[in-house]
Amino acid sequence: MEETSKQPGKNPIEPVRMNPDSKFRFSCHEGLECFRECCGKITIFLTPYDVLRIKNRLGITSAEFLSLYTRIVDLKSTKLPFFLLNVTEDGKCPFVGEGGCNIYADRPLVCRYYPIGLGVLKSTEEESGDFYFRIKEPFCKGFEEDKEWTVRQWRESQEIDRYDFINKNWFEIVLNKKLLAGDVEPDEKSQRLYMLGSFDTDSFRNFVFESRFLDLYDVDEVTIEMIKEDEVELLKFAHKWLKGVLFGEYVYPRR
Ligand code: SF4
Ligand code: SF4
Repeated sequence: MEETSKQPGKNPIEPVRMNPDSKFRFSCHEGLECFRECCGKITIFLTPYDVLRIKNRLGITSAEFLSLYTRIVDLKSTKLPFFLLNVTEDGKCPFVGEGGCNIYADRPLVCRYYPIGLGVLKSTEEESGDFYFRIKEPFCKGFEEDKEWTVRQWRESQEIDRYDFINKNWFEIVLNKKLLAGDVEPDEKSQRLYMLGSFDTDSFRNFVFESRFLDLYDVDEVTIEMIKEDEVELLKFAHKWLKGVLFGEYVYPRR
């Protein structure tokens, strides 16, 4: 399953599998004639931590962000809905400005990876694990620059490890073997809870603290205090809880 794609059209993916030590030459800066070109005609899938970072950057709630800036797509391969970033009428990212990305410090994961893509072998295949590939758009002049990176160095420079760590349980949900094999078919209610727990963190907080949630699930006091204070912990908690909702891995059963 290819996980990272920024622009549709002619397939720019090089058919060479890369690992963390693979090298490539690349540099992106304002002086290049292609500057900002990669932020037009885009397809950007959002991860839960992307939504959290961007909605905070914009000072709005997760529900407001999702309704104003995204649209839902259903991926046949995962049977779960995803959010795509909306584009402007001329197909550009809503966050691209004269000087580049207006939300650069909080840009989505797919923009951080670019021009590297992340591939995940389907967990139904015997071999498993992540791999990388280069996305070489014909207009991108960054590959003509001298700066050399390994994939590992690129990931570090783009704060990707933090995103992967926070999204870890969510990736495990959408790549779950039973889901991919069709052994689990989330019903409408499960899909609603998936959207809530995955992406709509502000509404999920209300759900936890303003419903009977804490009567139904055995959540310890330390965790309760932590998820009250820290949104990232709340997001990680939501993803663990979702594994229970979708796959019966009940993490916090009320005894
Ligand atoms: S070098 Fe590539 S990534 Fe950088 S602005 Fe140009 S097209 Fe975009
Ligand atoms: S979020 Fe920023 S980096 Fe990503 S496509 Fe939009 S403007 Fe470009």
